[in-house]
Amino acid sequence: MPLSAALARIAPSQTTAMTDRATQLREAGRDIISLSVGEPDFATPAHVVEAAKAALDRGETKYTPVGGTSRLKQAAALHFARDLGIAVTPSQVTVSAGGKQAIFHAMLATVGADDEVVVPSPWWVSYPEVVRFAGGEVVPLHTEAQNGFRFTPAELEARIGPRTLWLLLNSPGNPTGACLPAETLLGIGAVLRRHPRVMVLSDDIYAPINYTGTRHATLANLCPDLADRILTISGVSKSHAMTGFRIGLAAGPEWLIRAMERLQSHSSGNPCSISQAAAVAALEGPQDFLSDWCARFRARRDLVVAAINAIPGLSAPTPDGAFYCMVDAAPLMARFGDDAALALHLLEHGVAIVPASAFGGRDGFRISFAADEAKLTEACRRIAQAVAADG
Ligand code: PLP
Repeated sequence: MPLSAALARIAPSQTTAMTDRATQLREAGRDIISLSVGEPDFATPAHVVEAAKAALDRGETKYTPVGGTSRLKQAAALHFARDLGIAVTPSQVTVSAGGKQAIFHAMLATVGADDEVVVPSPWWVSYPEVVRFAGGEVVPLHTEAQNGFRFTPAELEARIGPRTLWLLLNSPGNPTGACLPAETLLGIGAVLRRHPRVMVLSDDIYAPINYTGTRHATLANLCPDLADRILTISGVSKSHAMTGFRIGLAAGPEWLIRAMERLQSHSSGNPCSISQAAAVAALEGPQDFLSDWCARFRARRDLVVAAINAIPGLSAPTPDGAFYCMVDAAPLMARFGDDAALALHLLEHGVAIVPASAFGGRDGFRISFAADEAKLTEACRRIAQAVAADG
């Protein structure tokens, strides 16, 4: 097969693979509850859908500027200031086909063969693959459940060397739901001041889904003196249940934003024109539904954490944000061998989850609790049954 060396370095997304396998089984008539997918189950807000229809009716069906319309860039600048406390001009913002594409383009535009990228683990599945595709080397920064999946600035500094180009941060995190507190971020800022080559990609896509009761903390807000080497990723996929619209936002130094747009001009071109109009409505329209969504996610989180902790052999810390819970299943590994085998066993019992190894973790699995209470209760019942059964 004439595949490129770059492609040979990466694997398909295991979260997508698990979701596809669950869909296949469901289509074959099996009753499968899928807790593997990373998207809110809520409907896209009506005013956003109306804005998309209105854009179609106005005939906004043509190319737009590659990095997004100036209207959306203005709305995005407003969002970064209002929701993340990051002051940027529209020219320091770009729009892509999902946050995923923004991350992909940022890495491809900058990372070369000699570069290292520090990635805290468990990590979002795409981070290491994108780094490897670009030719860089992933330097894992392992975190543990007992420390709330957080690392210290000293642990970070120990991973930084002369080849380090990027640090990837994700708070609230997928798959752990962990949030980086302001004190840790200030400590990270102090480390970065000693290492002027290192840039930071701060993936804040889950920022509005935060149960800590404190304001979301982010590096570009806390350390504005470092803003010229921080790229902050945001979007509407998770916050506004718009995963299918494919709109992602990035804010950072102009040279990097222009580099990402240069790449985008030859890959996908502009993000979907209709989705851009919908995203303007999402960012400029009412945000009050978010507190209701957060309260509902929080109730589901509490349900799942309590149900999992009641199952012998499983334990789960309480996530601070996002809609994921990382379950530790280490006591079951002697029986199942590894977490991939456990995931298949759970699938046989009607629940699709994603093994921790897909995220650079081990001996556990990620549950997405973006599903209604009845489904979550039944899924946890099936997990308990599967763990009690032979296998
Ligand atoms: N970053 C993280 C941590 C994610 O979990 C996801 C989606 O799963 C993304 C970025 C990309 O989101 P999208 O491309 O759908 O905007």
